[in-house]
Amino acid sequence: MAFGGWLLIATSGILSGVTAKGHPPPVLVICGFVVFGGAILLLQFWVTCPKCSRRLGQTIAMPVAFGGKKAPNFCPYCGVSLDAAMP
Ligand SMILES: [Zn+2]
Repeated sequence: MAFGGWLLIATSGILSGVTAKGHPPPVLVICGFVVFGGAILLLQFWVTCPKCSRRLGQTIAMPVAFGGKKAPNFCPYCGVSLDAAMP
């Protein structure tokens, strides 16, 4: 979702055709910001450890977004496996 919102911001001028003033229409840019910001907020507050309930959004977001490092499959705070089935 965050990548889609970012892509919408970046391509809003191309998608709609740049207006005579040379700026993309603000509606598309605002939609992109809302989607991007909503995805980041969801990641921050919704992705939590099932055992200790600490927020894992920041821990997981960067490796997933940039793909350089493998996202951790365990909670860095309590060590519970994030791949195991929940009780
Ligand atoms: Zn935990």
